[in-house]
Amino acid sequence: MRVLAVGAHPDDIELGCGATLLAHIARGHEVSMLVMTTGEQGPQMARSRTHEQEDAAKLLGANLFWGNFEDGAVPEGRTAVGSIEAVLKETGADVVYTHASRDTHQDHRATAVATLAAARRATTVLQYESPSTIGFVPTIFVDVDGYVEGKLALLRAHGSQVERNGLVDLEAIEAQARYRGFTARMRFAEGFMCERMQFDLGAHRMTPEQELLLLNQTH
Ligand SMILES: [Zn+2]
Repeated sequence: MRVLAVGAHPDDIELGCGATLLAHIARGHEVSMLVMTTGEQGPQMARSRTHEQEDAAKLLGANLFWGNFEDGAVPEGRTAVGSIEAVLKETGADVVYTHASRDTHQDHRATAVATLAAARRATTVLQYESPSTIGFVPTIFVDVDGYVEGKLALLRAHGSQVERNGLVDLEAIEAQARYRGFTARMRFAEGFMCERMQFDLGAHRMTPEQELLLLNQTH
């Protein structure tokens, strides 16, 4: 399986689906990240956030792509869609994660809109939450028991947002994973809103003869 996660700023992807991506990696899936901006408007230099994102991608074991858009001014139209399409083509990803559509941050909203357009042929498109998401009601839950510590480690790589400025609260992230797990009848989970999800029961791998055989066995 090939997976692409799209986020507006460094650390957005790790916050929204870091543990799920670790689970993908553990299953041997190829994971890529596309970060639309370097987050240069935050309370630090863009250079440090670039390095932090590179460190986090390395720790995760993911390929890293940059959108090179301006922080605070991510477009949702043709240029952004084209940029995401190019990465989808290069990675061959057909499972896509992106921001939820309702969010107070304009870059998060624009990234969601552009990704949904660019990923119109992807088999699965799931939207993750962030601290600025509004009205997030997850319906798809990924069991991330065993990957929460790893998610926190990915976030610690973003030192300028975690230790130094307190923009990311690791205690809250851990509690969120527990809460999402509780509502999903498991211990720890990440929750997603579902744009599209294919449920593969292996049907296409059967010949017409095998289908008939199965039908005869079950009736
Ligand atoms: Zn962000």
